[in-house]
Order: sequence, then C-alpha cells, then structure tokens
Amino acid sequence: MRAGEWLLRAGAVLEPFAGREAGREARLMLGAASGWSAARVAVAREEGLAPEVLGRAEAMLERRLAREPLALILGEWGFFGRSFAVTRHTLVPRPDTETLVELALAEPFGRVIDLGTGSGAIAVTLLAERGAASGVATDLSAGALEVAGGNAARHGVAGRLAFVQADWWQGVEGRFDLIVSNPPYVSAAEYDRLAPEITRYEPRAALTPGGDGLSAYRAILAGVGLHLSPGGRVLVEIGAAQGEAVVALFAAAGLDAVVVHPDMTGKARVVSGRARAVV
Ligand code: GLN
Repeated sequence: MRAGEWLLRAGAVLEPFAGREAGREARLMLGAASGWSAARVAVAREEGLAPEVLGRAEAMLERRLAREPLALILGEWGFFGRSFAVTRHTLVPRPDTETLVELALAEPFGRVIDLGTGSGAIAVTLLAERGAASGVATDLSAGALEVAGGNAARHGVAGRLAFVQADWWQGVEGRFDLIVSNPPYVSAAEYDRLAPEITRYEPRAALTPGGDGLSAYRAILAGVGLHLSPGGRVLVEIGAAQGEAVVALFAAAGLDAVVVHPDMTGKARVVSGRARAVV
C-alpha cells in the first residue's frame, strides 16, 4: 500500500470522532510508524509502505478507534514548542495551558513551585525558558512524578527542579516567587459529560476533585501565606465558568491584583493574583 492511500483511508475512519484533526492525526501516526519526519510524511503520497510500517500504523489506528487519545498512542505530545512524554498516569498537556505559561513568563521569577505537576509540562517549560530559575514540582501520584522526572531530564532542567510526592503543600518547605498549578477543576457533574477519550484514559484524580470542582483551589490558596514571597504571584488554570468563584477565593486569601485571563479561544482560563507588598 502507498502512503497516500493509507492516509486517505485512516483520515476517513478517524473523521467521525477526530473531526478536523483527522488528517493531522493520520499523518502523526504514519510518522511514528515509519520514523519519517513530518516533512517527509507530507510529500510521501507515492511511497510504498513496508509491511512492518503498515502493521505499526494499523495497530495505532486500531487503538485510536477504541478512543485512546493520540498522545498516549504516540507516548509524547507537544507543549510550548517542546515534546513531553505522557502516560496514563498524567493528563495530556493541552494548548489551553500554554496561556498559563505565557502569563508566568511575562514577569521575572527565581523560585517557582508547580502544584500537581502531572507530566511536568508547566514546571519543565518554565525552567527551560528561564535558565536562572529553580523550583519544586509536586504530585500525589508516584506514576506522574516518574514521568515528570523523565521530562525534566529530557529538557535539561533536572538539576534545577526538585520533586515532592505530596498532597498539595504537605511536606513542602520555603517560599516561592511564583506558585503555579493546573489542578483538577472539573465538577463531579461535568466529569460525567466529558469525552470518552478523557474519562477512559486520563487519570480521574487529575481532572476532578469531585463536588463543585473548587476544592483544589482552596487547598492551594491555604498555603499562600506560608509559601508565597512578598510581591510574588499565583497563577492557576480554571474552567471557563469558574472565574468569579476563583477570584473570590483569591481575594479571601488576601491576594491583590486578581485578574481573570482568557485563553486563545477567548474562554476564561487563568486567574492570577499577587501577594501584597510588605509595608
Ligand atoms: N481542561 C481540562 C479538560 O477538561 C481539565 C483540566 C483540569 O481539570 N485541570 O479537558
């Protein structure tokens, strides 16, 4: 079979649930199955597929048709221009979360903590972008911390990033200029309406804290007094409808300059706040 034929067929079977991404997903699968670069895949229509390449591509397609996210099939996923290993122990890094990273990078910081780091996408990106910064990444999941540690090594920041297996602030010491988190924030009711790609394959604990979806913010903000440096910033990702509620929690925690920021699609996505300067 020629590459072009396979891409056409794979794109067509993926279309019903991958929608506009179907063609791109098919090309990514063929790239991973063949070892060809994206540029080669793009012009490979007439190239024949060796049986083992075809076998690998078909196996990937089959997993995808069982609704497994492409990121888990490929074992890695792009975030802020870098590739991160992902497994079933972590959330797949989402483009929405790049909004939080951009806001974090808009001001200088020395010490950063990422609470509930998952794949480490946020913490590793921040340290990779700011060579003088150092920090801590926490997660309750040992499996996630293993993935995050690998990603820190992959991007050359392992020497500047300490990992703590912790329930939010438990066991964390010291103060930070920047506190960031993409915590579980989906409410119990919303969780039941998420796509099967998400609920079947991504860790439930990374997506929903249960109830109203706000309890992780309460836990994070409870540590601000003890762990935020004077003038330091807190940035958290939120669900599109949570802006008002999270702003109220930030204000109640004594933070100043509390702002809701939209993501690239215009949805409320990040809340930021700042510690009052000492007087
Ligand atoms: N935005 C994610 C989703 O619903 C939720 C991520 C999170 O809870 N931190 O796909």
